[in-house]
Amino acid sequence: MSADQTATPARTLGAGLEPFLERLDAEAEALAARTETWSAINSGSFELTGLKLMRAPLLDAVSALPGQVEEVQLRPSERVRPDGEVIEIEHGASIRVRVRPEAPIQVALTGHYDTVFPAAHPFQKPWRDGAMLRGPGAADMKGGIAVMLAALQAFEATPGDKRVGYEVLLSPDEEIGSMASAPLLAALGAKAHVGMTYEPALADGALVDARKGSGNFSLIVKGRAAHVGRAFADGRSAVLAAAEAALALNALNGQRDGVTFNVGAIDGGSAVNVVPERAVLRFNIRSPDAEGAIWGEAEARRIAEAANARDGISAHLHGGITRPPKPLNDQQRTIVSWTRTAGEALGLDLKFQASGGVCEGNNLAAAGCPNIDTLGPCGGGLHSDQEFALLASFSERAKLSFLMLSGLERGLFDVRSLRS
Ligand SMILES: [Zn+2]
Repeated sequence: MSADQTATPARTLGAGLEPFLERLDAEAEALAARTETWSAINSGSFELTGLKLMRAPLLDAVSALPGQVEEVQLRPSERVRPDGEVIEIEHGASIRVRVRPEAPIQVALTGHYDTVFPAAHPFQKPWRDGAMLRGPGAADMKGGIAVMLAALQAFEATPGDKRVGYEVLLSPDEEIGSMASAPLLAALGAKAHVGMTYEPALADGALVDARKGSGNFSLIVKGRAAHVGRAFADGRSAVLAAAEAALALNALNGQRDGVTFNVGAIDGGSAVNVVPERAVLRFNIRSPDAEGAIWGEAEARRIAEAANARDGISAHLHGGITRPPKPLNDQQRTIVSWTRTAGEALGLDLKFQASGGVCEGNNLAAAGCPNIDTLGPCGGGLHSDQEFALLASFSERAKLSFLMLSGLERGLFDVRSLRS
């Protein structure tokens, strides 16, 4: 047997599936057009009307899959206003599709249909620009949802009873931290063998294998107002207490490998002849591993307590590490190797790299579900009016997901080696 006749895993994986791969190639324009249509619908994370408008075509699109479709209402989440008051904000619903929940192999496919662009933002309409589709959500991640659904439809079209069942979860709050959909992601991650999430791959085609964990915090500080001219000594400045806490947080940078503390904003104060009574210090902590996250959060609590102990000052810490780290552990290495095998079957040499950014893949991993979370189209300029998806990558990445599902179905990727 010559070397090129050897049955490599990649060769075995692609065998017999050529017609389905060709079909996905032929769908390239349809996928781009679908993404373009969805991109034109504003669905900023706080735009309840737009999110509802966006759910209509999504519900229509997922109806092409077998299984039960539902809209799951989400609980309100808390936000700290600039004046320090904690308020509840409403969210859109998640869309959930359950297909073959009794099947022995269960896959979690997740995505978000919100974008970072509010309705008032000037970046609203998609357009074609050479090899790119530009527009809000073109890559992050309306394009990703289009890729996911194309792969699932191709998978459903393959003959035979299926051993792979799955749940699709499309959420409206990823860009603001997934606080409301977190319980759904945790429940899904706890029962699925493998996770597939559709954040965009990088423009050079690379995917992400490991992610830092992240948490947003607000230190709500209250002092005592006083007129600067008449009773300066009676005042207790919330802004100064917040500023000192900010410096203490910043001084933690560099103390532990990869753990970062970023002071993002201080809200507070009013006129310069008044000792400020209220301030809110907003900061983010990121860590590559669980130990660092625990340490970082404990340090933040220590600094909050020190602020609270100041004369005339009360300080209350709001928030936490809500996206735990997703380290490159053995389970994660295994699913990366499967993805590379699926890429090989398509003639792709897929590269992986770590990221400091966070996504639903963090939530799934925290629930014990190894996952690849950059299965969407290749793109860049995310979260800006430079956002684009590469048109040629829509079919390519749909084929990649299709082959991963097929590998699970054919037992080439053995989920029992991932979790028991
Ligand atoms: Zn995203």
